[in-house]
Amino acid sequence: MESLEGVGVATGIAIGQALLLFDEETLVFKETIKVDDTEKEVDRFRAAIGEARRQIEAIKDQVSAKIGEEHAVIFDAHVLFLDDQSLIKETIVFIRAESCTAQWAFNQVLLSILHQFENLGDPYFVERGKDLEDVGKRILKILMGGKPFGFQNLKENIIVIGNEFGPSNITTFDHPKILGFATDLGGQTTHTAIIAKALGLPAVLGLHHVTRRVNSGDLVILDSFQGKVIIDPDRKTLDAYKKMQRAHKRQVVLSKKSAQAPAITIDGIEVQLQSNIEIPQEVDTALAYGARGIGLYRTEFLFLHYAPDFPSEDVHFDTYCRIAAESAPFPVTIRTLDLGGEKFFHRAFVKEKELNPVMGLRGVRLCLFRRDIFKTQLRGLIRAAADYANIKVMFPLITGVEELRIVRKIVSDVADELESEGVAIRRDIQIGVMIEVPSAALVADHLAKEVDFFSIGTNDLIQYFLAIDRANDDVNYLYEPFHPGIIRLLQHIIQEGANAGIQVSCCGEMASSPLYASLLLHLGLTQLSMNPTSVPAIHHLVREIHVGKLREAIPNPSKFTTGVETRAQFRAALKNILPPKTFRRLIEDHGRRKS
Ligand code: PEP
Ligand code: MG
Repeated sequence: MESLEGVGVATGIAIGQALLLFDEETLVFKETIKVDDTEKEVDRFRAAIGEARRQIEAIKDQVSAKIGEEHAVIFDAHVLFLDDQSLIKETIVFIRAESCTAQWAFNQVLLSILHQFENLGDPYFVERGKDLEDVGKRILKILMGGKPFGFQNLKENIIVIGNEFGPSNITTFDHPKILGFATDLGGQTTHTAIIAKALGLPAVLGLHHVTRRVNSGDLVILDSFQGKVIIDPDRKTLDAYKKMQRAHKRQVVLSKKSAQAPAITIDGIEVQLQSNIEIPQEVDTALAYGARGIGLYRTEFLFLHYAPDFPSEDVHFDTYCRIAAESAPFPVTIRTLDLGGEKFFHRAFVKEKELNPVMGLRGVRLCLFRRDIFKTQLRGLIRAAADYANIKVMFPLITGVEELRIVRKIVSDVADELESEGVAIRRDIQIGVMIEVPSAALVADHLAKEVDFFSIGTNDLIQYFLAIDRANDDVNYLYEPFHPGIIRLLQHIIQEGANAGIQVSCCGEMASSPLYASLLLHLGLTQLSMNPTSVPAIHHLVREIHVGKLREAIPNPSKFTTGVETRAQFRAALKNILPPKTFRRLIEDHGRRKS
């Protein structure tokens, strides 16, 4: 048995036989042809381009019908490569000059372009290179008589394993026998991850060397909750996972049933549970799982989707209207662009390498640096908020009042501009900020006077406060939500929000873990936002916890010296307060998986 760790996408546990998909079919060898045959070869190449175009258009239509037109846009970029005259002309010149097969010529041209992209060292071009590679492989397969991945005759339940899959491969995985996929490369913000999520296909990406560790036919467990792949599991692990899988399926059915029940604690505190989403398709799932609105829509995913272009004002408008309409009457908090840091795409327009991107041009700073992009987003957003009163606007990475005022001034300028163009707008849109930078937390009293709400982003707040890169595995052990310093900071933010009478919520990962959520409830939060599939567990916790008793057991959670001690105190208190079965399922089992 061997366990590998990566990034989990689209939650679920899948158990099945590994099927390795390599690209051996695209291994190309140099083959020369007779000079007289070169024109036939050129024709064959042109025909392959035509066939690739037909295939991509068909995938595009399929994606559009299945998961929405906005996801199909990715394939427009693929089609553009087929119109790239340099790629086509250079290949034809190569065939004629070298009297070689079209696949050899095309492969040489393709590799040289991919090499140029790679040498630019810019993550934007690396991503463009991946798109080109996806298209290139398709053309090579056509030229070599291969068929696109086809799974019609699958008999066993399969987990597809590969080095990296392009978005067009993923769409072919939409088959009842394919339960999920795992790759060596890739991460949360790739197009592949976005499409997997939209299809609800569990995946674990970025496993580094899964293709070297697993063989086709091996039994594999794919745990996308924890981002784990377990190869050849022993009996005990397999049984435990089968149990977890059944429990999860049961939980989904149960939670969908109980989703409509209000989330009220035993001592009568009503808690609003909302969802964080990355793509509009998640609204349905979020509501089905019991979320009462969207507490965070990460609009950077909309930008990633339209890369290398930017979403137009109308795309912003349509997307926000769609999310608001589907979520009504519940609120929808739309966070403006938060690219930067580990979210790579921004370099395409910043054009500078940053030594310390997490502290660089990210979030609202990037928006102030490129106000044109920011204003386009705000125009779409303000127009949508005029039509949908449930839309709220939120700014990420705010460090203090000065920055907030600059941003608010831009919002009001954009509103004036729209009004002067005769567009009906609403002046009372609720505007809030993420509290995710320690300086903002400490001036929460000042900020609270100038906004309608706070949402605590514990993912970044912990990262910046404890000085640990949230994406760096080596320092991950320091990432401690129970750190007494973090608890004091949370107490301060919540208190200042209450003093000013504004709503304070938490949309960081802390809200999705029952153990940490119990701390947040203890501290007085009554609004939590989390990924859709975490809602049922937190809903369950809320309905069975007595917050008063927890406060009696632990009057001041920040008094313990260490996070370890705080955790032990919370676990002990919850063991007494929650029904034993609930404690086992939410704190013990969940703790093993999450916290
Ligand atoms: C956070 O920082 O806690 C947060 C919710 O924002 P993101 O994870 O998108 O940075
Ligand atoms: Mg954040």
